[in-house]
Amino acid sequence: MSNLLLQNGILDPDRLYNGIAIRAKDRQKALVFHKILLDPTMTRSDVRALLGFRSSTVSAAVKELMEDGLVMETSKITTGIPGRPTSALNVDIDRFTVISFYLENRYLIGAVVNLAGDVLSEKKTFLPVETDSDTFIHKFLELQKELSKDVPSSSELLGLGISPLGTVDVEHKNWIRCYRWSKIKDVGFTRAPFSELPVPIVVRRNLEAVLDYQMAAHSSYRKGGTAIFHWGFGIGGAFALDGFIIQSALGRFGDIGHTKVNSESNLACRCGSRGCLEAEAALWALLPELRNAGFQLDEDNHGFSNALKGEWLINVPGVKHGIEAISSGLYNYFRMFHPDRILLIGPFFENPLLAKHVIKSFKASLPSDLKNKVSVKVVEDAFRGCLISNAYPLFKDALKSHLICRS
Ligand SMILES: [Zn+2]
Repeated sequence: MSNLLLQNGILDPDRLYNGIAIRAKDRQKALVFHKILLDPTMTRSDVRALLGFRSSTVSAAVKELMEDGLVMETSKITTGIPGRPTSALNVDIDRFTVISFYLENRYLIGAVVNLAGDVLSEKKTFLPVETDSDTFIHKFLELQKELSKDVPSSSELLGLGISPLGTVDVEHKNWIRCYRWSKIKDVGFTRAPFSELPVPIVVRRNLEAVLDYQMAAHSSYRKGGTAIFHWGFGIGGAFALDGFIIQSALGRFGDIGHTKVNSESNLACRCGSRGCLEAEAALWALLPELRNAGFQLDEDNHGFSNALKGEWLINVPGVKHGIEAISSGLYNYFRMFHPDRILLIGPFFENPLLAKHVIKSFKASLPSDLKNKVSVKVVEDAFRGCLISNAYPLFKDALKSHLICRS
């Protein structure tokens, strides 16, 4: 079942309103909606029995939900009482959709996502290294146009969600820059041509979107500290405490890749500085050495991540050094936030041998009282979670307004 939104309570009233006080009757309506969402065989009397509400409360809530097209009556169910058949209630999970985008390798990937977190349609477009801002905008809009055709005719498209990488001013919806495509700069999602679109755009940082999805998919991650540590083309992190992601207004956070690990190093980093962790261990820094080792790796190739899963990788001298550097980086990151759990993501960690070495080295460096207190886990294909979590803010806003009682 792909209904992650349903399974993990992302739409339950407490999550929906982030703990903000709401009227008792609004909360009751939200709870009625949530019960119907969880079980497609639910009847009005089931909801009443489960929640202990008056039948007039349940009927009024269901009436408004049906008027808004959020809930439908389906097959009649025999109650055993002559002349009193009843109906099962279903949430129309295609009532709202969002077109969501994320970037991985050299691709912009987009999908139409419904309320249940189902991907109804998915398409992607290649962005070569020389892609500039205008080309990106053109390709984004082309992909958006194609995906719009796949929005179900009965569905209301709430908007677009995107999680760019690099430096992103989330508040002003501005993609400031990224190192992967150095010619993409200052893409303002509130300016033309985006401002001419009939729907709003939500902009998120990509690692925060990954973390948000993980917390929705695993409710235990919403307790205590959860950290993402990414090792791939770049190196970075994200951190949440009790389900809330810690952010910065400066456009970046958890920038462990650009912390200085070697003050005497002459290795130039793509950020313009020297001695950064990325210059020692990021994929962009290791690429020349990997190619010198005789491996035909093309960073634009779709099979790139799979090529990195080979056992050969561990024997490349630069990679050996990279493991040491990353283990220290992970240790430093842990020491800053002391999270209860660390999720390792990115192509290098999807190589089982590399992940094993890094985790072993990291654990060995911890003081004995902390060794067993932090869990470290590899999450494969983590960026796909952005397709779902980039839609959360739009779904939440729509549901918040529809779950307020009108009467
Ligand atoms: Zn740097």
